[in-house]
Amino acid sequence: MNKGLLIVLSGPSGVGKGTVCSVLRHKMPELVYSVSATTRSPRQGETDGINYFFKSRDQFQEMIARGAMLEHAEYVGNYYGTPRDFVEQTINSGKDIILEIEVQGALKVKETFPQGVFIFLMPPSLDVLKQRIVGRGTESQDVIDSRMSVAAEEIGLIRYYDYAVVNDEIEAACHRIQSIVTAEHCRKERF
Ligand code: 5GP
Repeated sequence: MNKGLLIVLSGPSGVGKGTVCSVLRHKMPELVYSVSATTRSPRQGETDGINYFFKSRDQFQEMIARGAMLEHAEYVGNYYGTPRDFVEQTINSGKDIILEIEVQGALKVKETFPQGVFIFLMPPSLDVLKQRIVGRGTESQDVIDSRMSVAAEEIGLIRYYDYAVVNDEIEAACHRIQSIVTAEHCRKERF
């Protein structure tokens, strides 16, 4: 039996990774979603264990120390990381899993798991990205400024990815990702 695909969907904050993932959940119910751990506080409507595993900094550091994280990154003052066991169990059982993570974490996954499928979700432009972050209405001006400067640097790292998908329109972006997953399943190396 083939292992499942480890698909990493990454890109700047505000590009729409979360929305794309939630639409993909409906379109690709066979795809398993990795729930990350974070030290940031829950936003309104977020539930522990569904959106994130919300952890204290001590708890998070303890998870890093015992090797429980496949990757982790500090992003705008908080830790974010991918619990390792769930990812490994899923791909070993032949199912595909998708990780929705920021760029530094994606590059770390690439070091340990180069056979993953790395997809960079692009904003149509930096102006559109800023409008999306501001429009979300959840972030202070300081956070918006730091997310925008991180985003500009991150777009320069696109060369480390296998695919770039512009999120100009949600349905179209999801369709492109579905096509990528189909193509990856047809790789001759898998036969
Ligand atoms: P937010 O605070 O808006 O939910 O997420 C901030 C950023 O952290 C987003 O770019 C999101 O994709 C990223 N992120 C979420 N989970 C993880 C994770 O497990 N690892 C890494 N490296 N980034 C993550």
